[in-house]
Amino acid sequence: MVGTVLAAARRLRLRFPDAGLERQFTGSYRAAARPWVRISILVALCTTLGFAVIDHWLLVGPRLAHPDLWRFGLQIPLILIMTVLTSPRLYARWYSPAIQIAAPLFGVGTVLMAVEATPAQLPLIAARLVLAAFFFYFMLGLSFGAALRTNAALIAAYAIAALSGAIAFPVAVYSLFVLLCANVIGAAGCYALEHANRVAFLERQRLKEMASRDALTGLSNRAALEEQAQALWQQARISGEPVSVLLIDIDYFKAYNDRYGHLAGDYCLRVVAPVIHAAATRHARDIVARYGGEEIIAVLSGCDRATASAAAATVVAAVKALNIEHLASQAGSCLTVSVGAATLSAADGHGQEQAVRLADIALYAAKARGRDGWMAYDPPAAGPGAETTFEADAAAAAEAAAAAGAGQRLSA
Ligand code: GH3
Ligand code: MG
Ligand code: MG
Repeated sequence: MVGTVLAAARRLRLRFPDAGLERQFTGSYRAAARPWVRISILVALCTTLGFAVIDHWLLVGPRLAHPDLWRFGLQIPLILIMTVLTSPRLYARWYSPAIQIAAPLFGVGTVLMAVEATPAQLPLIAARLVLAAFFFYFMLGLSFGAALRTNAALIAAYAIAALSGAIAFPVAVYSLFVLLCANVIGAAGCYALEHANRVAFLERQRLKEMASRDALTGLSNRAALEEQAQALWQQARISGEPVSVLLIDIDYFKAYNDRYGHLAGDYCLRVVAPVIHAAATRHARDIVARYGGEEIIAVLSGCDRATASAAAATVVAAVKALNIEHLASQAGSCLTVSVGAATLSAADGHGQEQAVRLADIALYAAKARGRDGWMAYDPPAAGPGAETTFEADAAAAAEAAAAAGAGQRLSA
């Protein structure tokens, strides 16, 4: 029986199997909840003070001293602490653990007031427990699990008070039943809400993923490349690591389309893209994107010239190894690529635009050399005016490439 309940509970558990996705969801959900949580805590302050006024006004009796003790000695300080913890500086780190202690303690405060109430006052005060239950389920930004635990603590405190005889038996049973019913409704609503939030989160993720992917190759598209490359160069500026850019272009692809048809061309791109991705990258943070048409770009962080050259050679060999027939190619009888590589130091103030420009020069040189190969562009030593030197070296590099014959590195 207990096993069945536990199995059902496990099936109902709201959690993504992927820990990273779960962290992302929790982070974004909590961040979005902050303004509402702050308002909710203000509402809690107003209602607690409102009940203080109404209790003194309507429930005049001999036992008003203690409720005020719980109210002003426990509940109001808890609310004030939680108000402080919803400030932007403290919220992310402290709100979630603190509210899971503060909320049950607040509930215990109301239970203690119920225990000390006269029989006539008790049902009125017990009704506040129902309010508290709904407040915990819907207003504090708690996850379904946390809200359930918080309410279980509240019910347990009330049940202990009832069992110890502190509350008259019929009232205790009646109010406990009302509290349980309120929890069933609250828990169902809270579960449905979190479930809907998770579905909406996944939908948003899917849309984001779709917007950043190239539909044909599955690689990142240009928009995603710009965004990711900016972050990668920024990171490299801090770490001082070099960044290499490879521009990869399929040789005689127009001729391939003309001979085998555009559908076969599309199929080729689909097959070649993941192979290039696997051959070029070493880290998860490396970027491989469709640059346009039959051109693919790889932005490799922490990748020096030697590693970039090795990556370029691997890409050329990997595509050739696919052995896709291309009888219209003038570079051989199978599909090949040409690769241009450039390595720059972000710490010297260089960026994506310069690196692409230099990789393009190298690619042009690799094409001029007869395709099915790679060229790496060696920039001049960094220093003031380095950018001007790159521009001036463009023609020289192409010339050097044309003259180089068997060489695979352009030195400026
Ligand atoms: P090169 O060896 O100098 O690179 O010559 P190329 O023919 O590969 O280059 P060019 O720029 O002349 O032509 C590129 C071709 O790539 C033309 C275009 O039809 C084809 N292409 C671009 N995008 C796609 C695509 O998504 N699907 C298909 N099937 N072909 C594409
Ligand atoms: Mg091209
Ligand atoms: Mg081409």
